[in-house]
Amino acid sequence: MKYFLLFLLIPFAIFSQDKVEKRLLKKADKIHARAYTVDTHADAPINMMDMEGFDVGAKHKYEEDGTQIDFPRMKEGGMDAMFFAVYLGQGKRTPEANAEAKEKALKIFQKIHESVKQNSDKVALVTTAKEGFAAHKAGKLGVFIGMENGWPVGTDLTNLQTFYDLGLRYITLAHSFNNDLSDSSGDPEGAEHGGVSKLGEACIAEMNRLGIVVDVSHLSDSAFYDVMRLSKAPVFASHSSCRALCDVKRNMTDDMIKVLASKGGVIQINFVADFLKKPSAEVAVSIKTIRMQTMKAETTPEEKKRLNAELRQIKYKYPSDVPTVKDVVNHIDHVVQLVGIDHVGIGMDMDGGSDVIGIEDVSKIKNVTIELLRRGYSAKDIRKIWGENTMRVLSQAEKIAQMK
Ligand SMILES: [Zn+2]
Repeated sequence: MKYFLLFLLIPFAIFSQDKVEKRLLKKADKIHARAYTVDTHADAPINMMDMEGFDVGAKHKYEEDGTQIDFPRMKEGGMDAMFFAVYLGQGKRTPEANAEAKEKALKIFQKIHESVKQNSDKVALVTTAKEGFAAHKAGKLGVFIGMENGWPVGTDLTNLQTFYDLGLRYITLAHSFNNDLSDSSGDPEGAEHGGVSKLGEACIAEMNRLGIVVDVSHLSDSAFYDVMRLSKAPVFASHSSCRALCDVKRNMTDDMIKVLASKGGVIQINFVADFLKKPSAEVAVSIKTIRMQTMKAETTPEEKKRLNAELRQIKYKYPSDVPTVKDVVNHIDHVVQLVGIDHVGIGMDMDGGSDVIGIEDVSKIKNVTIELLRRGYSAKDIRKIWGENTMRVLSQAEKIAQMK
């Protein structure tokens, strides 16, 4: 008799579960229809520059070419704007190499501008919250520009004005190696300046004057604390996660998150697998070795492609190492519990290593929203996480730049 009743209940349970999921999706759709969603770190320009035939205006399939961002998929996913990164892996710091880095950066700016122009009926280049909202209202996607690695600035701070005029609104001072501006969290040689250099200090002042946000992702802990002391405007970590949940130097400690928040800043959670969930020691070593090689300036696009394929193979050897949407939201939860709802955002690092089951590409971002709803976040909270917090920092940097 008991078993008979159970059989009657199973279909009912499945049916009601289905109903719950449908209701959550409907709610998520409603939130995305109203919210202004912004991601602070998108590496689409890497594919735009290096991948033969890649057109960011055309729809691609992640399963076919491994790419995660294009304009049609942004639209499909409810992703309103992304900061496209002008990224350069650190190379030599001679005057010639610096000049070459600047030339390369200018080419990436040009490529981004061209791609926006070619899709001007659906996409706009935006530099302020106001411009972003206006584009959104006109039914267009927004492309903001950030620079990952201050190397192209070289030792000539007048370059900042040039980049600003091209639409640049944040700079990650250093990438995986130390440069003339700052120490990096990733340099195998360790600290060189003991934080931010003298030149870096002047660079931050000039960024404050112009209204370019200082991005503290990738920096060493000392450099982070230097930035907090030096910057007159709030800053953000465009793609960093929590060290308390995943103990790697690239992530932020609880103390860093608290200091960042106390100055009005935001940490935008990074979706790179081994920054969300620590892989087994053996895998971690291989990942690190490959990643360091990928990030060297002299690594060719072909080599990078091969290294990335190798990286994926290593990761999927242990599927339990690959994080899910739940792991992402654990990091968001952690920041919220630590400093409240106003200091967390999202910087997925798509096309730069983002690897989460359930959010394979930008068309799937609603799964984050659904998980947030499941954990009791309100629509208002979710709007803050998905964009409002980031737009606040951008607006404040702009305001401080205008106050002389
Ligand atoms: Zn990065």
